[in-house]
Amino acid sequence: TNFTDLELDPRVLKAIAEAGYETPTPIQQQAIPHALVGRDVLGIAQTGTGKTASFVLPMLTLLAKGRARARMPRSLVLAPTRELAAQVAENFETYAKHMKLSMALLIGGTSFKDQDKLIDRGVDVLIATPGRLLDHFERGKLMLTAIEIMVVDEADRMLDMGFIPDIERIFKLTPFTRQTLFFSATMAPEITRITNEFLSNPVRVEV
Ligand code: AMP
Repeated sequence: TNFTDLELDPRVLKAIAEAGYETPTPIQQQAIPHALVGRDVLGIAQTGTGKTASFVLPMLTLLAKGRARARMPRSLVLAPTRELAAQVAENFETYAKHMKLSMALLIGGTSFKDQDKLIDRGVDVLIATPGRLLDHFERGKLMLTAIEIMVVDEADRMLDMGFIPDIERIFKLTPFTRQTLFFSATMAPEITRITNEFLSNPVRVEV
C-alpha cells in the first residue's frame, strides 16, 4: 500500500509527500481506512510505530468539511502529558499545513487567557491534557457537545497517571454519536473496561 491508495484529502497527501514519507506504516495501513469510513478504532501500538499519523491523517480528512463554532470544538485529542500533547500538535501542524483548520493546545504552564481567545475563535482540533481540559470546562468557557471525533492517545500512561476517572468524565461530556479512536500500548483490565463502555463496535488493530 502507498499513501495515495488511502483516500486521504489531497492537501494531506501533499503534506505527507513534503514530509518525505512514502509508505504508510502497518498501524497506518490498518487503522486509516476504518477511521475514514467513520468506524471506532482500538489501536494497540507502541510509540515509534507511526500511531500519531494513524489518527491525525484521517481526522484532517474528515474535518476538511465543516466549520467550527465559538467555544464548541469539533474534535478532541487527549494525551497524558504536556510533552506528548505538544508532539501531537506538531504532527497536526505538519500534516494540516495546506488546510485552513484551526487548532488549540490546552496544556498547563500557559495562561488561560490566551487559550480562551483561541477557544472563542472556534477550534477544529483541540489537543489537551485531561486536567487542563476539565479546568477549562469548569470555568464554563468550553463545550464538548459538538465533538465529532475524540482520540485518546497512550491510554496505558493515562492509567498509570491516575487519569482514567477524568477520561470517563470527558467521554460523558461528548456526544454519544462521536467517532472514537483509542490508542494504548497494552490492554490492562481497566483499559478494556473503558473501551467496552465508550467505544462502539470498534475495529481492533494491533501491531
Ligand atoms: P509515532 O509512533 O507517531 O510517535 O511516530 C514515530 C516517528 O515516525 C515520528 O518521527 C514520525 O514522524 C515518523 N513517521 C510516521 N509515519 C511515518 C511513515 N509513514 N514513514 C516514515 N516515518 C513515519
